Amino acid sequence: MTDTSMPDEQAVTIVGSGVHGVHLAIRLLSDDVVSRDRLCLVDPSGLLASFRRKSRACGMASLRSPFVHQLDADPFSLRDFAQKHGREDELVASEDGADRPTTELFFDHADRLCEQHGLESLRVDAAVTGLSDHGAHVRVETTAGSFSSAWCVLAVGYGGSYSMPAWADGLPSSAPVAHVWDGCFEPSAVGDSERLGIIGSGVTGVQLAASLACPERDVVVFARSPFRTQRREAGTDWMHFSDALEALHSYPPASRGRERVVADARYDGSVPPYAMARFRRAVDRGWITVEATEVVDATAAGGTVVVTCRDGRADWFDRLICATGFGTPYEGTLLSRLRNETSLATGYLGAPALDDDSLRWRRADGTRSRVAVSGAAAQQVLGPFARNIVGARQAGNILADVIETEPAAPPTIRG
Ligand SMILES: Cc1cc2nc3c(=O)[nH]c(=O)nc-3n(C[C@H](O)[C@H](O)[C@H](O)COP(=O)(O)OP(=O)(O)OC[C@H]3O[C@@H](n4cnc5c(N)ncnc54)[C@H](O)[C@@H]3O)c2cc1C
Repeated sequence: MTDTSMPDEQAVTIVGSGVHGVHLAIRLLSDDVVSRDRLCLVDPSGLLASFRRKSRACGMASLRSPFVHQLDADPFSLRDFAQKHGREDELVASEDGADRPTTELFFDHADRLCEQHGLESLRVDAAVTGLSDHGAHVRVETTAGSFSSAWCVLAVGYGGSYSMPAWADGLPSSAPVAHVWDGCFEPSAVGDSERLGIIGSGVTGVQLAASLACPERDVVVFARSPFRTQRREAGTDWMHFSDALEALHSYPPASRGRERVVADARYDGSVPPYAMARFRRAVDRGWITVEATEVVDATAAGGTVVVTCRDGRADWFDRLICATGFGTPYEGTLLSRLRNETSLATGYLGAPALDDDSLRWRRADGTRSRVAVSGAAAQQVLGPFARNIVGARQAGNILADVIETEPAAPPTIRG
């Protein structure tokens, strides 16, 4: 049962119960860093709801990452779960030998962990609207009231920010145009014989097109740049504490230099080979058409949308879905607010100035606050995999140590 009441004070508050928030909670409980009664997750959505919705929206059949990238403290927990339940066939073989779980297996295992740790009863069903830094504690403001916490970890993902093409701005809200990450997009609502346009040739656009392709439906993918295949989102040296991270940390915190290193390291828009193969099969069957051009304008016309392309061509669709990615991880509502309303330091593009050793957000005077960050917004410290599950595991290692070595005041932690 979800906790709708506000605690008076808390030892550890995790804002966000997505992949990062859930992994951190499991980590802190498994390592006995904090007792259940001193930990809460604040999120108006259900546990893992955001990742589940996005995976479903783009028709993701299996994860891109290997089975050791899962939410339990024990890296082999998902494999053991698959074996115990006779579901080894849901560990899909990969070109590099690192088997990947099907999406269903990943979430069944994650749900089991949430159940085992009773995480739903630790969730406060509210959105965090602000934080104020009081030195030894943080005041957490939410839509359901406020409370104090010795530690507050922000694990808010992209905080709802995603990237729409500029031409979509002028369209009326009734136009049949959506972003795949918009909560309103529902793949099962796409009609069998709809003429469908998909903007974007990265992993999301490719998976979405392949999952919606069928003989009755015209699916057209607009690919302004050539398809690029890559197994992962960046080089594997970024998965370990390596020279690559040291080089990243040689730039000042929250700087343009760090942002550039991360952007250069990410294979953004790349598609893993298995997803590309499924897409190509649908293209070969004539179920998907690829247009190697960019949509530059769109007009709503009697329940359809008419697009104009850079090469001068025009086309019409019953529905247009933008698979055009996220904005920057610093643009979400909460981070924008903290940037404007607190003395927590920010830098280039509004990135939080985090301490490299602890992920603690520095104040304008350089001291370390008790607000820390896990997820995409920590990419200037953890590198291009910060947003991924392996990034959650790296952040979990760091934060478990930090919170354990600097508890609020006994008996608050290990109570
Ligand atoms: C389709 C897709 C496939 C992916 N596949 C993989 C993969 O195979 N392997 C991999 O390692 N990574 C993968 N990723 C990347 C990453 O693991 C996911 O994006 C993951 O969801 C990130 O977790 P998160 O907790 O940071 O964010 P989210 O899962 O988005 O969770 C953030 C949570 O914070 C909450 N929140 C936001 N603002 C507030 C607020 N103000 N107050 C309270 N709560 C708030 C939201 O409601 C949400 O529940 C994939 C991503 C996508 C989109």
